[in-house]
Amino acid sequence: MTRYPQLAAALLVWHEQQGRHDLPWQLDRTPYRVWVSEIMLQQTQVSTVIPYYQRFMARFPTVTALADAPSDDVLHLWTGLGYYARARNLHRAAGRIRDEFNGEFPKTFEQVASLPGIGRSTAGAILALSRGERFPILDGNVKRVLARYFGVEGSTAEKSVSDRLWHLSDACTPEETVDVYTQAIMDLGATVCTRHKPLCTYCPLSEECFARATGRQGELPTPRAAKGARRSREIFMLVAMRDDGSVLLERRPETGIWGGLWCLPEFETVSAASIYAGHTLQAAEAQPKPLSIVEHAFTHFDLVITPLLTKCEGQAGIMDTIPTLWYNTRDPARIGLPAPIKTLLENLSSPTLFDSSAPPS
Ligand code: SF4
Repeated sequence: MTRYPQLAAALLVWHEQQGRHDLPWQLDRTPYRVWVSEIMLQQTQVSTVIPYYQRFMARFPTVTALADAPSDDVLHLWTGLGYYARARNLHRAAGRIRDEFNGEFPKTFEQVASLPGIGRSTAGAILALSRGERFPILDGNVKRVLARYFGVEGSTAEKSVSDRLWHLSDACTPEETVDVYTQAIMDLGATVCTRHKPLCTYCPLSEECFARATGRQGELPTPRAAKGARRSREIFMLVAMRDDGSVLLERRPETGIWGGLWCLPEFETVSAASIYAGHTLQAAEAQPKPLSIVEHAFTHFDLVITPLLTKCEGQAGIMDTIPTLWYNTRDPARIGLPAPIKTLLENLSSPTLFDSSAPPS
């Protein structure tokens, strides 16, 4: 039951006048189209998502088209968006919808929330935005708006705080025009009630907002306790290159970072890379040459990659069951690549890549 009708009313007026109405996923709002957009928008900004979304929908216009596609095709169109588990779950869920729901997006909240990669908030957003069904949502933007507006103290990672915010979200969700309200509160968090320097002067909720009245916008929601210094992990990757410029890639296991993507063979040490090259490559150079270091930041750690270049004629034979292919940037295969590996491969012809200061170890 809606207990804060003034909040919803103010948001609806604001959205009518200031909200975004012409994003690609706001046109022809089917559950499938909304679902894909909601998954892409997790951890990623609207401006980044738009071209990815358009390419994805052009290639996979229906849930069945997505379900029937090879996973390499799906990961290829996700390359650069990061958080690849999202793409793998999307693909798995599409397969379940094809097999268990006859290709029709499920009807009930419980069915939607049972699909891989769809939690309570995403399920609510899909049903609210595409079908106008009344379900509250609590994504990062909505948490921030509600914590500030109602003055909810404590980290949103704590269950008691999360429960309170879910309760408030439910109490604010109107009975009618749920689709517009849901879009409005998400948009307000993304564009006005931003994490840093919220634009309170332009906010339709400013008159009743606890954080604004007390000047505590910077303290709410309560930040998580710092976990200390970031970890850094150093690895070596072998760039085994043939005369035609193609490079050996391996498919990574489904689990772990970059699961299911194609990547350069990875090693803990230079000597392990040299041994691999000697055993599995034809006429590989004895000593791989270190290239410029590539750094990539994950959420919880930094990955420091030293690429090791070795010229070779090809593979010496099938050594194990890891799928491999020769990738040539002049005629690239449609596969999923981690963003830093894609950049590294594209830069292989650049002379700056060879200005390495990294000593082999
Ligand atoms: S008044 Fe400021 S802090 Fe309060 S909801 Fe609006 S933008 Fe956020």
